[in-house]
Amino acid sequence: MPTEPARPLPAGRPADEVLAELRGLRAADAPTRGGRTFAYVYDAGLEGLDELAAAAYTAYATVNGLDPTVFPSVARLENDLVRAVAALLGAPGAQGTFTSGGTESIMLAVKAARDHARAERGVTAPQVVLPSTAHAAFHKAAHYLGLETVVVPVDPATFRADAQAVGAAIGDRTALVVASAPSYAHGVIDPVAEIAGAAARRGVLCHVDACIGGWLLPYLRRTGRPVPPFDLSVPGVTSLSVDLHKYAYADKGASVVLYRDAGLRRHQYFAHAGWPGYPVVNPTVQGTKSGGLLAQAWAVLQHVGDDGYTALAARVGEASDRLLAGLRSADGVRVLGEPAAGLVAFTVTGAAGHDATAGRGRPDLSLLLHLADEMRGRGWYLQPQLSFDGLPPNLHLTLTPATVGRVDALLKDLAEALSAARALPPVTVDPAVLALAGGLDPATLGPDEVAAVLAFAGLDGDAGLPARTAPVLVLLDALPQPLKERLLTEFVGSVFRI
Ligand SMILES: *Cc1c(COP(=O)(O)O)cnc(C)c1O
Repeated sequence: MPTEPARPLPAGRPADEVLAELRGLRAADAPTRGGRTFAYVYDAGLEGLDELAAAAYTAYATVNGLDPTVFPSVARLENDLVRAVAALLGAPGAQGTFTSGGTESIMLAVKAARDHARAERGVTAPQVVLPSTAHAAFHKAAHYLGLETVVVPVDPATFRADAQAVGAAIGDRTALVVASAPSYAHGVIDPVAEIAGAAARRGVLCHVDACIGGWLLPYLRRTGRPVPPFDLSVPGVTSLSVDLHKYAYADKGASVVLYRDAGLRRHQYFAHAGWPGYPVVNPTVQGTKSGGLLAQAWAVLQHVGDDGYTALAARVGEASDRLLAGLRSADGVRVLGEPAAGLVAFTVTGAAGHDATAGRGRPDLSLLLHLADEMRGRGWYLQPQLSFDGLPPNLHLTLTPATVGRVDALLKDLAEALSAARALPPVTVDPAVLALAGGLDPATLGPDEVAAVLAFAGLDGDAGLPARTAPVLVLLDALPQPLKERLLTEFVGSVFRI
């Protein structure tokens, strides 16, 4: 057995002992292969793919992606990858960049739009117009980069962006308008052509967030499914993000941001010659970076190939069809919107006796979260999403080829888990606690007050999330957004505490 290091850094330990400890630490993690963990991992279910990615990473682990003139292999691999992405999702003249993930791709697209608006239109206080279902990464980018967000409610029945309302929100300060293909939360495709058209009429840039759908939708189309146009070929779309670490099944840390031309992409780059060190040109956020992530993504794409991705998309489509049919015929379950395949969000409705306040036919948060806990107890990791702006709370699943063979088992366990959840007493939040929490100002809370609220919510950080998350999330759902954000920050701070 590996021994516990006696001090923060030991004098040194044998390699096999170090590796054994690393492997052992994963015992408490969610499984990353096998089709039972949704949202966090994407499993192609292909024999040997993990080993290929690992070998490719290892071959390039020590290469520094900072400088392609010293490591020309990096430029060759990145150009190959971006060319493949542009062939699938681009238009003539498109140029792109390999990044560490969807968040970085989005961050860079927002930076390019901000700097483009400043340079071309003299916009000094830029805004980004976002449907309310746009990924949180756009809010993060706006926060980091000093843009104001203008959030436009989506259609409450279809969960798709309202193109007319988005168009009406565009103003002189708008640097960027966003559409999702599909949205992360509900898996529905926004009316990209209408939104991009409205942006183009105002001379404003439009980004399509295809982080999750970009490598699935075109291949689904090849299997004969109808997929509306959503990429750079749509007039008015000026940039697009696609994560290769989702439906291209590369390891985490692989995404591409694509622009309509090199002139727009130029605004993404950072160059600096005003210091005594080497002349700096950084296309992405990082400076020095390993060539490993690029190499493993390249290897996975080359190996799976066009035909392989078409076959994998067919399997995802099949899994989605079967899961949707099962969910739609289940009593008290409501699928949200018309998911494009891959993602499914559903809510459960209250039945007499479970939650009198939710009532029959209304989404029932307490029941939904009990269901998530019951499913977790059966080895399935579904992602709870809380209510927002009138949109119901739900459970979120991402389907991968590894799920195809498990759909029947999933539906059977779901039916059992739902019965078990209905038999549990509803979780309620003490109105006195809510009144107290509502009166707190997150900006002026001291550490002791925050610790007390966290402890009350069952989040003291020592053991991560409690085994049953329903009581925590019901409380969290009821709190005002700024307080929620403060508590989440403190909670994660308490997890990373030395
Ligand atoms: C995953 C995702 C992102 C963010 O990507 P990360 O890779 O988690 O940084 C953005 N938008 C959509 C639609 C996504 O699915």
